[in-house]
Amino acid sequence: RRPDRPHGQRYRLGVMGGTFDPIHHGHLVAASEVAHQFALDEVVFVPTGVPWQKKDRPVSAPEDRYLMTTIATASNPRFTVSRVDIERPGDTYTVDTLKDLRAERGEDVDLFFITGADALAKILTWRGADELFDLAHFVGVSRPGTELRAPAVDHLPAERVTLVGVPALAISSTDCRARASAGEPIWYLVPDGIVQYIQKRGLYLAPDQPHAPEP
Ligand code: ATP
Ligand code: MG
Repeated sequence: RRPDRPHGQRYRLGVMGGTFDPIHHGHLVAASEVAHQFALDEVVFVPTGVPWQKKDRPVSAPEDRYLMTTIATASNPRFTVSRVDIERPGDTYTVDTLKDLRAERGEDVDLFFITGADALAKILTWRGADELFDLAHFVGVSRPGTELRAPAVDHLPAERVTLVGVPALAISSTDCRARASAGEPIWYLVPDGIVQYIQKRGLYLAPDQPHAPEP
């Protein structure tokens, strides 16, 4: 898909990587706000394969996370979902995500990697960190409690990194899972279809509660 870009202008593709276990309105507002501020043509959501930074807890099946991401983004004509990370064997590294999307979309596309300010601060510890800034512009979105501290920003190349404040949304997947597992509501923290999908599949239930409650 390469819609109506005036001749000579490069296509601007936002890339939102995440575990999306589950996807929530914080992710969607961040993607929408960055798309607006950077005049992006499209934002592609990329659910991770094996999340190497999250091996301390069980992560939902890639297919469930992929379907939730698809359900949540379906109504936005500029939002799409990619399977590159869930189809690549092994752990997911951002450098591979960006290389695969570059190979798939061609050289006349500019990539904007959208990530939480918390993750951006850790960017120098990522595998292939030296290559990352050649592959994409990095957009760090801030959420409550995870402001980028100056020393972290100082180490990043200024012309390849921008910080964007998104309307404060204290929503995290961790909190959504905890709420779902405690039987507390997650309505309005995640899209309606995600509440229903989580219930239908019995995701995030406490171990002593192995079956989804009757609807
Ligand atoms: P978890 O609590 O399991 O870590 P999460 O809510 O951080 O989940 P991820 O899938 O890890 O969700 O996040 C994907 C990306 O979205 C990351 O770059 C993360 O920093 C960013 N992000 C997560 N929540 C928000 C939010 N409320 N507002 C803006 N960005 C967010
Ligand atoms: Mg996170």
